[in-house]
Amino acid sequence: MAEQLYPGLYRIQIPLPESPLKYLNSYVIKGQERNLVVDTGLNRDVCKKAMMEGLNELGISLETVDLFITHLHADHFGLVSQLAGENTRIYFNRPDSELIEHWQGFEPMIKYGGQSGFPEDLLRNALSNHPGFKYGAGWVPQLSIIEDGQELVVGDYGFVCIQTPGHTQGHTCLYEPEKKIFIAGDHVLYNITPNIQCWSDQGDPLGEYLASLDKVRDLEVKQALPGHRHLFERFAGRIDELKDHHARRLEEVVYILQKISPQNAFEVASQMTWDLTAKSWDDFPLAQKWFATGEAISHLRYLELENRIGRAANQPVILYEPA
Ligand SMILES: [Zn+2]
Repeated sequence: MAEQLYPGLYRIQIPLPESPLKYLNSYVIKGQERNLVVDTGLNRDVCKKAMMEGLNELGISLETVDLFITHLHADHFGLVSQLAGENTRIYFNRPDSELIEHWQGFEPMIKYGGQSGFPEDLLRNALSNHPGFKYGAGWVPQLSIIEDGQELVVGDYGFVCIQTPGHTQGHTCLYEPEKKIFIAGDHVLYNITPNIQCWSDQGDPLGEYLASLDKVRDLEVKQALPGHRHLFERFAGRIDELKDHHARRLEEVVYILQKISPQNAFEVASQMTWDLTAKSWDDFPLAQKWFATGEAISHLRYLELENRIGRAANQPVILYEPA
């Protein structure tokens, strides 16, 4: 179903079966000749059906659609390969597109997961159920690279592309300064916390994410249009909550290591508080353990770079201890 949010701007909710996120919010902006669809859904029939029904309701034919994808996650990017035709422009950021170009499969992740204490047999099992693995784009059409600050005009809307690395390396939002609308992707969500994962000894996804929150915090935003769940008005307030959340998480991780050390990331993750219905860590579905461990690593990396924690060992498993 297509729902009008503003003149010429609509939302189509794309179902995400088996995902706690429930839906992806796909936004459609009507233009004169070309229309823009922001984010697409998984590469699954149920997603394609919802998208096509929504576009039909709006009287938009697929041949007139260009795509803007906020980031390289299967629930946003996956359906691209089914929607794109010869004339489709697919606007996408450079860092995530480089990830596609240099994609080495999940092997480097699996290796780092093992080094983080994630039991390897569980790991292979977790990844075979990973949505990126099951419902990824399959093939990737030619992408039109957009840079930070670049403008994208569709109909009455003049969007500025704002790169907000953290949730992925090149995650990009769209800001309409005159209408004060912010298409947030998974950078700022309302009642859920965007997942910030790290699976290597390089980079600092959490540090980048916190900087990206600061980068957009003071924009004048009347309404934020996130990639999942509810639209919201309280933009700066929500960003402050997310920053507080991570500050508390960092304290929690230090505290866990002060109680027992050294520990690996998998062990640390098992003691962090998670907003899930499972009774205990052992009852967590495997995929959630995987997300949780990636999230623990991004916090450990951040603390390590701040010299608040250090490593007691690096091989075969990385063990952390308070500084
Ligand atoms: Zn995402």
